Amino acid sequence: MTMTSGPGRYVLFGHPVSHSWSPFIHGLFARQFDHVVDYKLVDTAPGQFRHAVIEFFVQGGAGANVTLPHKPAAAEIVNDLSARAERARAVNTIVRRSATELYGENTDGVGLVTDLTRNLGVTVTGTRLLILGAGGATRGVLAPLLEQEPREVRIANRTPERAKALRDEFSDLGEISASGFDEVEDRPWDVVINATAASLAGEMPELPPRAVGRDSVCYDMAYGRGDTAFMRWAAGRGSTRAHKGWGMLVEQAAESYLLWHGVRPATKSVMGALERL
Ligand code: NAP
Repeated sequence: MTMTSGPGRYVLFGHPVSHSWSPFIHGLFARQFDHVVDYKLVDTAPGQFRHAVIEFFVQGGAGANVTLPHKPAAAEIVNDLSARAERARAVNTIVRRSATELYGENTDGVGLVTDLTRNLGVTVTGTRLLILGAGGATRGVLAPLLEQEPREVRIANRTPERAKALRDEFSDLGEISASGFDEVEDRPWDVVINATAASLAGEMPELPPRAVGRDSVCYDMAYGRGDTAFMRWAAGRGSTRAHKGWGMLVEQAAESYLLWHGVRPATKSVMGALERL
């Protein structure tokens, strides 16, 4: 794969996108290598997304990140997909090979697994794992999570049909079941990952009260200042291990940086900087 190094223009396409910390994170990464990187946010409505991506790369853009709700559309635009992105049918990183040749990767799953296992010391192998949500984020992390060989995976979603569709699509990779929130077994799960957008609205999916216990690891993909609604809910159920998605955000960004620049930045100091904001 051709990689673009040194100065270059990078963007994050999303809708909305103004809340993103990605320019801050990529700025700190660039400083580690004395790179000059121009990383901007681009708010693009779904109807404009395809045109905006093509225009950006035709005008010399070096790379793009893609967030909600464009990840599935990005997988349709690029010319070539990594195995992970093809499996997820969702792209969060686009690499320019030439003005007309774009490569799509999905770094969300490896970002989450790195944060869970390396930064937080969580063992996923052999656990009962509950994933809340069946959108683009769940789609991106399912295969890398299943590679960790949890004993059992349940996908629970507000719209149960979407959870069941994901179960059917990924069932060749492991033991997966699917349901609405109210059908989730009311006994503590080992690991609970909130991949719904509920936290963005300060809401909490309506889970049975004992789905989380003292030893449950609770991970909210959402992030921001302070605790999320899911973290507060988990703490209220006695969980002593509730985390938000800073680490995933930084680790997936480091994987994007590696794809674009050929070097993987250190992440610990960047997470520290985010915590101090
Ligand atoms: P998405 O494709 O729009 O999917 C949203 C999901 O949330 C769907 O399952 C939806 O259920 C559910 N949902 C929305 N509002 C809800 C509510 N009030 N109560 C219960 N469920 C609700 O979004 P996504 O791309 O999967 O992103 C999901 C979350 O992950 C966002 O908070 C995003 O910021 C976060 N994320 C974080 C990282 C990171 O690096 N930390 C990376 C990726 C995503 P229905 O199917 O019923 O609509």
